[in-house]
Amino acid sequence: MPQLKGIPVTVDELHRARQDYDALVGRGLKLDLTRGKPSPRQLDLANGMLDQQGAPVSADGVDLRNYGGLEGLPELRAIFAGALQVPAGQLLAAGNSSLELMHDAIVFALLSAVPGAERRWVDEPEITFLCPVPGYDRHFAVCERFGIKMVPVPMTPTGPDMDVVERLAAADPQVKGIWCVPKYSNPDGTVYSDETVRRLAAMETAAPDFRIFWDNAYAVHHLTDTETEIADVLALCAEHGHPDRAFVFGSSSKITFAGSGVAFFGSSPANIAWWLSHTSKRSIGPDKINQLRHVRFLRDADGLRQHMRNLAELIRPKFEAVDKILTAELGGTGLASWTSPAGGYFISLQVPEGCARAVVAKAKDAGIALTPAGASHPYGDDPDDRTIRIAPTYPELPEVEAAIAGLTTCIRLVGAENQAA
Ligand code: PLP
Repeated sequence: MPQLKGIPVTVDELHRARQDYDALVGRGLKLDLTRGKPSPRQLDLANGMLDQQGAPVSADGVDLRNYGGLEGLPELRAIFAGALQVPAGQLLAAGNSSLELMHDAIVFALLSAVPGAERRWVDEPEITFLCPVPGYDRHFAVCERFGIKMVPVPMTPTGPDMDVVERLAAADPQVKGIWCVPKYSNPDGTVYSDETVRRLAAMETAAPDFRIFWDNAYAVHHLTDTETEIADVLALCAEHGHPDRAFVFGSSSKITFAGSGVAFFGSSPANIAWWLSHTSKRSIGPDKINQLRHVRFLRDADGLRQHMRNLAELIRPKFEAVDKILTAELGGTGLASWTSPAGGYFISLQVPEGCARAVVAKAKDAGIALTPAGASHPYGDDPDDRTIRIAPTYPELPEVEAAIAGLTTCIRLVGAENQAA
C-alpha cells in the first residue's frame, strides 16, 4: 500500500510536478474514464443483432410477438445457463438490465417474505447488507435508497475477507445479505477463490433468510484466452443445506448492446417460484423479440465464447496500456499500486492515504473525468481516501493513453504536495 507522509520531497521535484501539471492543464484535454461502458467499436461487433431475419417464432413454435413467456425464451436461457452456472430451468431471461432485477429483488424481499423468512424485511427493525469494498456504487445506491444499512467488508485477493463475513453474518439476524461480484469484480477485477465461495455457501447465518446477491456481471468477460472458472454457488449452497441462499444475476449488457441486452435471474426452485409470483403481477412477459435476436446472433454457448474473444481483442490493449503507463510513470515511486485484472471492465488504483479526492479533483481541472473518489464505498465514503476506479473500455486507445498519462501527472503532483506538507 502506498504510504508517503514523512518521505522527503525536494523543492525541485515539487517544482517539476507543478510544471508538468500546468502543461497538462494547458493542453485543454476532454477525456472521460468515468463509467464502464462498451465502446462504439464493441457495440459495432454486435450489430449483427439488428440484421436478424426470420419468423418471430420460438423453437417450440410460440409466436414471440405476443404477450406471455414470463420465464423468458428457453433457447436463450440455455445459451447462458453454463456461463452463469444456473440450470436452464432455474434461469429466467427478463428485461434489459440486471441492476433492475437486483433492485426488484430488494423491493420484493422488503414487501413479501422471501422463502425461509419469518417476516418481510420491511417489518424488521433494521436491515443490514455486507458490502465488500471496494465495490460497485450502484449496489450501494440501491441499499441507500431503501434505508438498508451497509457494513463494509474488506476485499482480499481471493474475495471478501471471509473471517469478517462469517463473524458478522453469524452475530446478527438483521444481517440479511451480501453483495458479491464474484468474477472480475468491479472495481478490483478480483476472482473469488473456490474456498471463498464454499465458505459463503456453508457459513452459519443468524438470519434464516440471508441472501447472497451474486452479481456475476462479468462471467464471460475474459481479457485473454484463459477462461477463469469460479465455484458453483447454487450447487454449493444446496450441498451445504442452504438451497435458497443465492440470488444469481447476470446480463448481456456488456456482451451485445448495453442499453438493449437481456438480464438474467437464477436461483433455487423455491426462490424462482417466489420471484415469478411477484413478476407475474408486474408484467405479462419480457421483450421476447430482443431475446430471439440474441439467440439468432449468438447461436449457442460457443458463439457466445467466440463473440467474447472478439470483444477482448478490442478491450485488452486498453488494459495493457493502462498497466504499461502506470508502471513506466509510477512504478517503484511508492505513489500508487493498482490491479491487473484478467477480465472485467475495471482497474482499481490505490494512491497514498488521503490523496484520492485531491487526485480526482486535479484530474477534473485538467479535463480528465474520473469516477468520484469514494464511489466504490458505501455512502461514498472511502475512509482512507485512497481508491480510484479506472474504466478504460469506452474511450479509444489513444484517449486512454492520454488520460492515464495525465492521471499520473496528477498523482505525482498530489503526492509531492502531500509529502511537502
Ligand atoms: N453489475 C455490475 C457489477 C456492473 O459493473 C454493472 C455495470 O457496470 C452492472 C451490474 C449493470 O448491469 P446491467 O446493465 O445488466 O443493469
